[in-house]
Amino acid sequence: MREEDIITECKDLHNHTRLSYCGDRDVFAYTYIPYCESEKVTTIGFSNHLYYGETDLEGKHYKTGAERAADMKDELEQIKKMDTNVRVLLGCEVELFYNKEPSLAYDEAKMFDYVLMSPSHIGNFADYYRQFFDIDNIKVVQDLLVEQFKRACYVKYPVPMGMAHPLYPLISQNEQEIVDGISDSALADCFTLAAKNDISIELHACLYRKNTKLDEDGLSPSYLRILSAAKACGCKFHFGSDSHRMSMFVGSHEKLLLAAKKLGITKNDIWDI
Ligand SMILES: [Zn+2]
Ligand SMILES: [Zn+2]
Repeated sequence: MREEDIITECKDLHNHTRLSYCGDRDVFAYTYIPYCESEKVTTIGFSNHLYYGETDLEGKHYKTGAERAADMKDELEQIKKMDTNVRVLLGCEVELFYNKEPSLAYDEAKMFDYVLMSPSHIGNFADYYRQFFDIDNIKVVQDLLVEQFKRACYVKYPVPMGMAHPLYPLISQNEQEIVDGISDSALADCFTLAAKNDISIELHACLYRKNTKLDEDGLSPSYLRILSAAKACGCKFHFGSDSHRMSMFVGSHEKLLLAAKKLGITKNDIWDI
């Protein structure tokens, strides 16, 4: 790898604010800005969850994608008053439940700079998925992750699209075994499709959170294997700390940048957004 191709700064496109139910109540978009410089984050993207209509399983997300975009624009207005060179993008995390339409309507996507597809919240919505699958069975979850990933690749929006935490079984039991058991051929199928459909692959925080074993660099060899398959298929990549509070943001980009370096991901491989 040539020295000038090594990535030293991040576009972190996966961050939540209080507009997501799981985001801390005191976290606004502007809350992140003072931390961006030391984190080497030159572009920050906000991707709050969208749940509306039939995807609002908990009955507490009553706003449409367009209404959410308007709320987020209000938050971003605050940043304009700040003295900062950080570039700010407005995205969203679109839920794709098994057996349901995506949580964002096609026309409403125009309100956003980009969309992150989120088809792998299986453990997060275990009660929903248990209606259809034995999600305690590792093989079942592996197959479901692959099926859901492919489905997400076929969703079309009129804005650039990325994949949140690709093929990662968030908040599932046996995360290690699930990730390790996804076959090389399934990975090749998934990432070939993603590359063909211009879906950017996320270098996600599950690389360094402790739900799979970490190596001496504090990175997950199991998840590095998943992402190296994406690299081999020619996918583009983006960074996603998936922060819901500052303690998830601070310190994370050093690890994401190290993961990129280990994977041989260079500036040319980064999503051009
Ligand atoms: Zn997510
Ligand atoms: Zn998220």
